[in-house]
Amino acid sequence: MFEKILIANRGEIALRIQRACREMGIKTVAVHSTADENAMHVRLADEAVCIGPPAAKESYLNAHAILSAATITDSDAIHPGYGFLSENEKFASMVEEHGFTFIGPSPEHIRVMGDKITAKQTAAEAGIPVVPGSEGDVSNVDEAKKVAKDIGYPVLIKATAGGGGKGMKLARDENELESAIKMARSEAEKSFGNPDVYMEKYLERPRHIEIQVLSDNHGNVVHLGERDCSLQRRHQKLLEEAPSPALNEEQRQTIGATVCDAMRRINYRSVGTIEFLYENGEFFFIEMNTRLQVEHPVTEAVCGIDLVREMIRVASGAPLGFTQDDIRFSGHAIECRINAENPETFAPCPGKIGEYHAPGGLGVRVDSALYSGYSVPPHYDSMISKLIVHGNNRNECLMRLRRALAEYVIEGLQTTIPVHQNLMNSPDFVNGDYDIHWLEKFVGIK
Ligand code: ADP
Repeated sequence: MFEKILIANRGEIALRIQRACREMGIKTVAVHSTADENAMHVRLADEAVCIGPPAAKESYLNAHAILSAATITDSDAIHPGYGFLSENEKFASMVEEHGFTFIGPSPEHIRVMGDKITAKQTAAEAGIPVVPGSEGDVSNVDEAKKVAKDIGYPVLIKATAGGGGKGMKLARDENELESAIKMARSEAEKSFGNPDVYMEKYLERPRHIEIQVLSDNHGNVVHLGERDCSLQRRHQKLLEEAPSPALNEEQRQTIGATVCDAMRRINYRSVGTIEFLYENGEFFFIEMNTRLQVEHPVTEAVCGIDLVREMIRVASGAPLGFTQDDIRFSGHAIECRINAENPETFAPCPGKIGEYHAPGGLGVRVDSALYSGYSVPPHYDSMISKLIVHGNNRNECLMRLRRALAEYVIEGLQTTIPVHQNLMNSPDFVNGDYDIHWLEKFVGIK
């Protein structure tokens, strides 16, 4: 087992990983920008190294600085968390070349799944159902028209290097196709430095349901059920739950087994998430995330398995300590993402925290790096806390979540807590009756 792990991230996820390390008796190294000198992940780590100025490009995305920090602290392994360098094939390779262990999948798997066209092809070849669409890039408008006719309008143009919903444009008919391709290409070029786009059938009322997998270096693969992440604004998730109100046990086991077979076929190692759109009883693959996800705690809550601990164990070469049959799903869990944002416009509003009081009690977990007097810097993501609540069933979970949201005090800046409170009183949400477009209608598209 590793003796010391460098955590190449910040905020709540850096703390989350530190907690797993501490429980395993592993020492931790925090890295931080000058803007994060007083951050909780720095204060709680065994050692901390400043890796650059506030801009992420010069600090949390600076592979050389991070590797130097790992060298001078004599770390054994690097955990990338999510975002930043977590899905950067080059970084994963560099980590290994410098003699450290990358706590995640192989660089090759990151590469294959990082390019969405290749990911879709790989998934389809491994037996996973995919959204009907073009086989590859559709920069040629005439060819795109042919494909669109085949699959039927509306179609969605998506960036092959995509992420965060960027470079995605809808074409309802042939007249809209050319400009959708042009706009998607220019946005993709701007955001990812790669203008390639592909086409998919646009599903009108799907849910976003994703399957969590975990596998080791010894051919063992398990799934940990699904998360329903349909509540999105501008393709950004705001609330996630497990299990999905839309699936029954048989559907869960069937899609889980399909995904496990595919992961076995491609020899995948570590945690991973296969994202699907789900409509009329059918699953359609959209992408795979080769990393730990923001919403992993809802899975932990219903399975009682510490995903970060397992990720570290399998990276060290240990086999999974359990089989699919050992995994029991219990009750219901919901995660609310709490962002430092205006609850009406969703504009980021960083600032200094005044009074801070986190909710507690049975079944309540708060993953956050906030504390009273902390200044949320303007340079990074606006998510400042995750409130995760577990109950014996969905109704109990909702009652507890209402209670926990009412207890949560974050003074000094605006947050999305009121949005979650409104959601808890919406009959559609309470009935589990929503799709990926529902939230934008509920909050009014802002
Ligand atoms: P990104 O990596 O940019 O987040 P994804 O492929 O994961 O892109 O899609 C993000 C979201 O966009 C999905 O959760 C869904 O809400 C929407 N979306 C993606 N593909 C389709 C599609 N074919 N039809 C309808 N909505 C889609």
